[in-house]
Amino acid sequence: MLHYLIASTKLNRRKKYQDSRFDKVVLSMKKLMIIGAGGVGQVVTHKCAQLPEVFSEIVLASRTESKCIAIAKQVKETQNRNISTAQVDADNVPELVALLNVEKPFMVINVALPYQDLTIMDACLEAGVHYLDTANYEPIDTAKFEYHWQWAYQEKFEKAGLMALLGSGFDPGATNMFTAYVAKHYFDEIHYLDIIDVNGGDHGYPFATNFNPEINIREVTAECRHWEAGEFVETPAMSTKQEFTCPEGVGSFNIYRMYHEELESLTKHYPTLKRAQFWMSFGESYLKHLEVLQNVGMTGIEPIEFNGQQIVPIQLLKALLPDPSTLGPRTHGKTCIGCVVRGIKDGKEKTVYIYNIKDHQDCYGEVKSQAISYTTGVPAMIGAKMMVEGKWMQDGVWNIEQMDPDPFMEGMNKYGLPFKIIEEPGFDLI
Ligand code: NDP
Repeated sequence: MLHYLIASTKLNRRKKYQDSRFDKVVLSMKKLMIIGAGGVGQVVTHKCAQLPEVFSEIVLASRTESKCIAIAKQVKETQNRNISTAQVDADNVPELVALLNVEKPFMVINVALPYQDLTIMDACLEAGVHYLDTANYEPIDTAKFEYHWQWAYQEKFEKAGLMALLGSGFDPGATNMFTAYVAKHYFDEIHYLDIIDVNGGDHGYPFATNFNPEINIREVTAECRHWEAGEFVETPAMSTKQEFTCPEGVGSFNIYRMYHEELESLTKHYPTLKRAQFWMSFGESYLKHLEVLQNVGMTGIEPIEFNGQQIVPIQLLKALLPDPSTLGPRTHGKTCIGCVVRGIKDGKEKTVYIYNIKDHQDCYGEVKSQAISYTTGVPAMIGAKMMVEGKWMQDGVWNIEQMDPDPFMEGMNKYGLPFKIIEEPGFDLI
């Protein structure tokens, strides 16, 4: 019996030793792979490169490797840090798995397009790599982005002992964390949520989008859905608007109600919400161009036959429009994105506005990018940092608001997106 006890104690000690060695291995494995070398990929790479103590090695992989090489060159020039690059087709799972098996990163930050979410998640499962993204999956032939495709991976990630963090950009991302943070610290129960995304910047073009034009146009032309009394209510796109005055002199803007993906996860994870709406500012010129482009069929996602070739109108339009990653030097003004939350604390009704203001030119000065890519890339870096440091490491598939908001919000203050809170802001919102 004693013999058995000693043997089992030895065994436990050995196991503990192995576990602690394993922990060390996990903690020192901080190699990161970023997939997607567009506007957001550029910011994520710069911001992650600024933290060598967290991200010891970085591989930037994308469909067009020359874009990765150009970003790596910028990082070398501004930070004297080496970034490796690779070519990969993220629609192709075996190709992704092969790359992951060679590079062996701790995790992937997916900032390619929403169409690649599932193939990258499949590849991460096969190669044993953690996953993070900033936009939920959308099939290329159906303009309907929803979480159910990715939520269906919950068991697979759990069984594989891997984590997938969904929606770690600004909206979704910081807006989910803003909601979680005020729900935790300012309310007993939250009832009304208005997410307000104002871009007060001007790039000087009559029509251009601040992130991938195809994704942006699919999003803003979609039917509006907002949450009211336990269900999503549909209304025509851009049919409800109001004026919103941002704090700190950013200005007054027309904001339009539209569907945005965080409404789906936030209403699920905060079932006390009676109403949740998302609002975005649009200028007159943007809306006028969009209406004409829609009327002539240029925003269509169905292929058409042209000169014996199949083309998708929205993809042709994307090719004609300015590349969002080139808008940095010419965009002036500020973004102001935040959440107005109404609920109860100690039996009394209260309202809290939590927001960030970011200057486009400040972003350009730091990472050669405008504020839309910046405000997306910084929360992606912070989410990855939380995972690498083990603060949020949890097997399964999680929306960001399911994590503790406190360390993330500290990161927002520290890494370029400080937030402010106004209690009882006195807004007169519909
Ligand atoms: P871009 O179009 O500028 O960049 C996308 C990048 O992904 C490009 O480098 C592109 O390669 C690459 N890519 C596309 N398809 C593939 C593929 N099959 N294999 C490998 N690489 C591929 O987009 P953005 O940087 O503006 O946006 C990136 C992501 O961020 C999108 O998913 C977008 O929805 C999301 N986003 C999230 C926001 C948030 O707040 N949560 C806000 C803004 C964006 P190539 O150069 O060859 O075309």
